[in-house]
Amino acid sequence: MKFSELGGKTQRNPPKDEESVNAKLLIQGGFINKLGAGIYTFLPLGLKVLNKVENIVREEMNASGGVELLMPALHPAENWNITGRWDSFDALLKTKSNFGGEYAIGPTHEEIIYPLLSHFISSYKDLPISLYQIQTKFRDEKRAKSGLMRCREFRMKDLYSFHENTEDRDQYYEAMRKAYLKIFKRLELEVVETKASGGTFSELSQEFQVVAPSGEDTIYYCSKCRIGINKEVYSRKEKCQECGGPLIKDNAVEVGNIFPLKKKFAEDFKLTFKDKSGKETLVEAGCYGLGTSRVIGTIAEVSHDSEGIIWPRSIAPFLVHLIELDAKSAKIKALAQKTYKKLLDAGVEVLYDDRDVSAGEKFADADLIGIPFRAVISEKTGGKIELKERNSKTMKLVKIDELMKKINGDTR
Ligand code: ATP
Ligand code: MG
Repeated sequence: MKFSELGGKTQRNPPKDEESVNAKLLIQGGFINKLGAGIYTFLPLGLKVLNKVENIVREEMNASGGVELLMPALHPAENWNITGRWDSFDALLKTKSNFGGEYAIGPTHEEIIYPLLSHFISSYKDLPISLYQIQTKFRDEKRAKSGLMRCREFRMKDLYSFHENTEDRDQYYEAMRKAYLKIFKRLELEVVETKASGGTFSELSQEFQVVAPSGEDTIYYCSKCRIGINKEVYSRKEKCQECGGPLIKDNAVEVGNIFPLKKKFAEDFKLTFKDKSGKETLVEAGCYGLGTSRVIGTIAEVSHDSEGIIWPRSIAPFLVHLIELDAKSAKIKALAQKTYKKLLDAGVEVLYDDRDVSAGEKFADADLIGIPFRAVISEKTGGKIELKERNSKTMKLVKIDELMKKINGDTR
C-alpha cells in the first residue's frame, strides 16, 4: 500500500491528553484515534494489526475444535434478570428502547449462549460442543485511562465449551490452556500463567498475565518457571509450584482468562441433557476469554523504544516499509517502483512511502510505525537498497534479490 493512500496520519508529537504509553504510541503512530474515554477508532493501520491478532486467535481456536459464531451485542434485560446480573454486574451498560424494553449492551455472553444452547442440547450425544466469537464488548469501566488496556468498548474472543461431565471439561480446559500458550507464543508475548480465585461463578480461574510496569494487576511469580499467583490468592508461604523457588512481586496485565464455570448458569437457564441412563443432568461448562484489543495495547507497552513501537512480525501491519528519497530523480523513482512491484508480486505486505516529505520525516515515521524491515532507496544507495531491521541499528546495502531472500528467509 502507498503511504499517500493510507487513511490516518502519524502525528509529530504524542497526544497531550493520554497518560499511558500504549495510547501515546498508538495514537502518534496513526493506529488508533480517540473518540472519548476508553473509546477508540481503529484506523487502517491499527485495523490491520487487530485483524492479524484476531486471525491468530481464530486459527488456534479452530485448531482446538472451537467453532465460530457471532452473538448479538444487544441483550434483552430478561436474560440478565434470570441470572441476577442485571443488578449485580457493576460495569453493565444499559439502554432503553423507545418502543419498550430494556437492554444490556454485551460485556460477556453467558446470558446469551446458555439459552441459545438449550435449543440444541438435549442428549449426551449433543455434547461436547465448543463455540466462540470474536466481538466488540462493552463495559462501563470507571477508570478508562489506559488506552487499549481498559476500554469501554473493546474487542474480545470468548469461547464457551459444554460437556457431559467434569472429566471431559477438564480435559478440554487443558487443551485450551495449551492453545492460549500457542497464541501468546505467536504474538511473541511472554505470559505468566497465573492462578486466581474463581469468584462466584467459577471453581478456579487461570489468568495469562504479561509483566509490565503499567499493569493494573499485582502478581507473585517465579521468574524461571513463569508460573504465578494473583494477589487475591497469595499467602506469604507461597513458593513456585514447579521448582519450589521464591516468588517475586510485579505489576502485570491480564490478557486472557480461562475458567471452568460452576453450575450456576446451567441452573439459571435449565441447560440440561439426558445422560446415558436417561437422567436429566446439568451441563458442565468452561469459559475462555482473551482481549484481542488489549493484546495490542500490551504489546505497545512492552515492545517499544524511544522512537516508537517494535511490532512482532506476526502482527505487524506490513512486513516491509519501503522508503524512496530523492524521488525527483527518475532513476530513483523507477527503482523504488520496481522494488515495490516485485515485493507485491511476491505477496509481501509492503508500505511504500511515496510522499513528498523530508527524509527525516520518513525515517521518524518508519520508527514510529515499527514495521519489521525498513528498505531505503536513495541517491546514496547507488542502485541498491539499504536494509535495516526495526529492532537493530545495523544497515546493509543489498540488491533486490537479496532483499527478497532476507525477508523470505525470516518467514516463519
Ligand atoms: P479486568 O480484571 O482487567 O477488568 P476482567 O477479568 O474483568 O478484566 P474478563 O471478563 O476475564 O476480564 O474478560 C476477558 C478478557 O477481556 C480479559 O482477560 C482482558 O484481556 C479483556 N478485557 C476485559 N476488560 C477489558 C477492557 N475494559 N478493555 C479491554 N480489554 C478488556
Ligand atoms: Mg478476567
